[in-house]
Amino acid sequence: MCLFPEKAHSIYACAKRKLAPKRKTVVPLDEAFNCTFCNHEKSCYVKMDKSRSIGKIMCEVCLEAFQTRIHLLSAPVDVYNDWIDACESVN
Ligand SMILES: [Zn+2]
Repeated sequence: MCLFPEKAHSIYACAKRKLAPKRKTVVPLDEAFNCTFCNHEKSCYVKMDKSRSIGKIMCEVCLEAFQTRIHLLSAPVDVYNDWIDACESVN
């Protein structure tokens, strides 16, 4: 049973909705990172292929790409960190 008079209830419902803004939709296992090669922000996308234990990252601006082995608990940021490590070991 509703304790609010009908009108008050709708105002209350509105106010409550404003307090809880809709969260941005996030695509799981697909995250964007800043590129160390062209310095674009959020231009590198990670694809996690867990069935083949391969994580791939590619910059859609300069098309620089990298792939590394992942395990079940790997996160996209781990692929990104591996990429950074690989870049640093080359330099
Ligand atoms: Zn780039």
